[in-house]
Amino acid sequence: MTIAFLGLGSNLDSPFNQLFNAIKAIETIPSTSLIQTSSFYKNRPVGPRDQPDFLNAVASIDTGLSPDKLLDYLQDIEMQQGRKRDIHWGARTLDLDILLFGSDVINSARLVIPHPEMHKRAFVLQPLYEIAPDLVIPEQGPLKDLIQYIDTGTMQKVSHHQ
Ligand code: ATP
Ligand code: CA
Ligand code: CA
Repeated sequence: MTIAFLGLGSNLDSPFNQLFNAIKAIETIPSTSLIQTSSFYKNRPVGPRDQPDFLNAVASIDTGLSPDKLLDYLQDIEMQQGRKRDIHWGARTLDLDILLFGSDVINSARLVIPHPEMHKRAFVLQPLYEIAPDLVIPEQGPLKDLIQYIDTGTMQKVSHHQ
């Protein structure tokens, strides 16, 4: 079993419900149990600015799946919730990223872990810090240190820890 951290994001079709439903769906992934979810945070979009604000959260899971198989299930959930693949970093009903998979470092055509942008993104680091303050990001260092360099001031916590 491996502890993995997932990033969740939505900015279309009731983002709160999208994240809530995604967490319910993650709980049904085979050989996997949900450990913890962060609060939901409202954020300005990354990339194209002419799109609605995002709602972001992270979750920790314990899984017996391979990273590839886990991504298959996460992409199934994205599709079930109406994800359309079009504009890079554009609006979407649901985005599920694998942020960390144990201490694995993966660089395949399909999967890069740790997620290559996570250490620069307030909407990832802040919710991660909420559920795993002592985390060390492979190749980047302690989360406690990384969070010093980013601006979390624009994020708004919109729900409590579940
Ligand atoms: P970003 O990766 O910058 O957050 P994005 O989430 O909008 O951008 P997507 O369009 O959702 O990108 O995904 C594009 C591809 O990224 C996926 O098809 C998947 O193969 C690949 N990918 C690489 N590493 C990961 C990862 N750690 N988690 C999820 N997908 C990944
Ligand atoms: Ca993403
Ligand atoms: Ca993604």
